[in-house]
Amino acid sequence: MSDLPQKNTKLRLTCPHCGYYARVRHSRELSKLYREGIAECQNIAECGWRGRVSVAYEAEITPSAQPNPEISLPLSDYIRKRSQGGIEHKAEEQLELSIDGASQ
Ligand SMILES: [Zn+2]
Repeated sequence: MSDLPQKNTKLRLTCPHCGYYARVRHSRELSKLYREGIAECQNIAECGWRGRVSVAYEAEITPSAQPNPEISLPLSDYIRKRSQGGIEHKAEEQLELSIDGASQ
């Protein structure tokens, strides 16, 4: 798996105290479906909060064209309902992710 391209991707969050942008640093993959890191409020002078953050894959929205047999995730409720004809397509399951320069 080390031949896969590695990008310095960071999850953007907001500080739960002051609402300013919080950067995720020092993240590490604990499993293929779970990652932990440290969130740091970027309002350093007036807040300075830090906290532990975790990211977990919970469901599939679009199945992989190259599925890993070791990975088993349920189909998201939204997609399941949509495939049953009840819901029109909406951008319901978007997370704010960004690619953000240097890493860790
Ligand atoms: Zn803050």
